[in-house]
Amino acid sequence: MAAIDIKNIVKEYGDGFAAVNDVSIDVQDGEFMILVGPSGCGKSTLLRMIVGLEDITSGEMRIGDKLVNDLAPRERNLAMVFQNYALYPHLTVYENIAFPLRLARASDEEIDRKVRAASKTLELDEHLDRKPGNLSGGQRQRVAMGRAIVREADAFLFDEPLSNLDAKLRGQMRTEITRLQKRLGITTVYVTHDQTEAMTLGHRVAVLKRGVLQQLATPRELYENPGNLFVAGFIGSPPMNFLPATVEGTSVKLPFGTVTLPPERAEKAAGKGLLMAGIRPEHFEDASVRADHGTGSTFRAQVEVVEWLGNETYAYIPFEAPPEVEAQLRQLEHDLDGESMHTQLVVSLDGSSRIREGEEAEIWVDGTKIHLFEPSTGENLTVDHAHAGRIPALGNEAAEQPSAVG
Ligand code: ATP
Repeated sequence: MAAIDIKNIVKEYGDGFAAVNDVSIDVQDGEFMILVGPSGCGKSTLLRMIVGLEDITSGEMRIGDKLVNDLAPRERNLAMVFQNYALYPHLTVYENIAFPLRLARASDEEIDRKVRAASKTLELDEHLDRKPGNLSGGQRQRVAMGRAIVREADAFLFDEPLSNLDAKLRGQMRTEITRLQKRLGITTVYVTHDQTEAMTLGHRVAVLKRGVLQQLATPRELYENPGNLFVAGFIGSPPMNFLPATVEGTSVKLPFGTVTLPPERAEKAAGKGLLMAGIRPEHFEDASVRADHGTGSTFRAQVEVVEWLGNETYAYIPFEAPPEVEAQLRQLEHDLDGESMHTQLVVSLDGSSRIREGEEAEIWVDGTKIHLFEPSTGENLTVDHAHAGRIPALGNEAAEQPSAVG
């Protein structure tokens, strides 16, 4: 096992386009690191540079203490884990796992010892004589990991391994991968565009946009303290709402009414003119359902559409964004492949809510959860930036780090 140190890495393709632009990520020994971002953000290119399948234009890539910029893939001792398509259908599970050892001309005794040890760890003992065609998706994934384990690679690299699976199997495989990574404790870099995978699998997540690292933090930090508009909109489902806002004293004026902010949030945004407020749908509630209005304020709004899902209710409330922030919201919609961010507020209410379409409702919003962004730069004024990107302790509790702002 080894740490992977990605330092100021740039990848320019022939036409001078920087697909990866000055990215630095310190993957610690044993850490599960996620690279996430929308299509074209450069996450696969970055992974391919780690493995050695793509040249590095500038910057330094270290695996352990070794500078690997100019090393061929086979000299890097990394294992790319593919899904079922990388297994040989005519070989048994045993021979599929043994394959890299046979290539390396290991002795039969060594092969048998390593294959059996890997198969025990992966609970594949009873399937060793079967062919991949007769295995479940999860078992195939374990065989692919077994092949990586016997090589005793320094790290596992995954490139969207679950993207072709249906939703149910994807869920099972997520759990399986988390379990195995924890048990093996092997340094892992995992590329995905799926924010559920990003939030559930990794110790830390690197969010990329157009080749630039936006934030490197635990899933909890990304959710509670997103550093900028892009991260705020990318993490969370349904996505965060963005609304024009002006702060006066400890009040923030929103299109629907005025909400009281905690003084430390209000202070950071005072005197900044027109801002963008960010409020997650789940930080609203039907005022009649919520008995304690403690940290929040209420406002009345006309509800256009209601979607009842049993455990929760989504309500859609139209609004007009003023021209000063409309362009920024449209850009964000484009970056996030989002819909109608500049024209409607989405609130997630308790399933017991009785609010109705076409009627006015009293909605409660939690003032302690409101983020305020500088519209021109996208910077989140309400988070402590040094804190939002800090390195967590590794282990099961890594995603559970308490947050100073939240
Ligand atoms: P996806 O999820 O769609 O695979 P990605 O985030 O993995 O996207 P990359 O495949 O790393 O993105 O590509 C990053 C950018 O580099 C894209 O704009 C892509 O068009 C560009 N790119 C990738 N390969 C090449 C190439 N060989 N020549 C020129 N440009 C390339």
